[in-house]
Amino acid sequence: IEEELRQSQKMEAVGQLTGGLAHDFNNLLTVVSGNLEMLAPLLAEDEQRELLREAQEAADDGAKLTAQLLAFGRRQPLKPESVDVGSLVSGFSELLRRTLGETIELRTSIKGNSHTALVDKSQLQNALLNLTLNARDAMPTGGSLTLEISRERLDSDYAQMFPELRPGDYILITVTDTGKGMSEEVRARAFEPFFTTKGVGVGTGLGLSMVYGFVKQLGGHVQISSELDKGTTIRIYLPGVGFASVQNSRKTSSAEEAPGGTE
Ligand code: ADP
Repeated sequence: IEEELRQSQKMEAVGQLTGGLAHDFNNLLTVVSGNLEMLAPLLAEDEQRELLREAQEAADDGAKLTAQLLAFGRRQPLKPESVDVGSLVSGFSELLRRTLGETIELRTSIKGNSHTALVDKSQLQNALLNLTLNARDAMPTGGSLTLEISRERLDSDYAQMFPELRPGDYILITVTDTGKGMSEEVRARAFEPFFTTKGVGVGTGLGLSMVYGFVKQLGGHVQISSELDKGTTIRIYLPGVGFASVQNSRKTSSAEEAPGGTE
């Protein structure tokens, strides 16, 4: 399961890169093809036409290649739906427990009820799995991992601390481990894609950057507090849905645009 996750992280990163590049490249090729086509009637000599025909063929081949790259880079479409985060965590905890092994205790605590957020289920599960694997790696000799789900109303004072957050109701996912913690340098860079302290071939450095992307795309916030040799707490704020007082004051951002659209 871990190998699968690592693989999917890499595929997603590669997909984003190739998707973006292929898209831009395709736009350039469209210009090349279009201009070659306009040149055709201006050429009198057979030899010139032959050169042009070859150039057009090459541009067509290039377009086919970028189409393949685009298909490869296109990610699974996201399916945001109303998900009760508490129930999802409960249903997922057995798998997380097995992932953690015998020396790490998993505690889950679902505070209150109705923890509905608009998310893609498998993305949320992936995020939880990433955090759980990081926690496991931080506790090689055992410890405990606490997963807490609660509802938080952020008033405007609080939201001011996080300028990107609007006041309103949030589902708060708190993941706390009793592991080795992070130095300030590591904490500051932890969300960077490809940043890892686990060594080449062990870590991809993509787990937290994906968690970050997932949360941001939903209009949420993610925050790390950590103390060396004490442990790490990661807080994820996801905009809640179904709260009458906030519903109409906030626009919920939907799935991000799939790469590969034409301009
Ligand atoms: P990876 O796990 O592949 O290294 P991540 O992006 O998930 O990539 O994490 C980046 C780095 O952040 C890790 O290499 C590690 O140094 C640090 N880190 C992440 N989670 C924790 C944690 N729970 N405790 C201590 N350090 C952590």
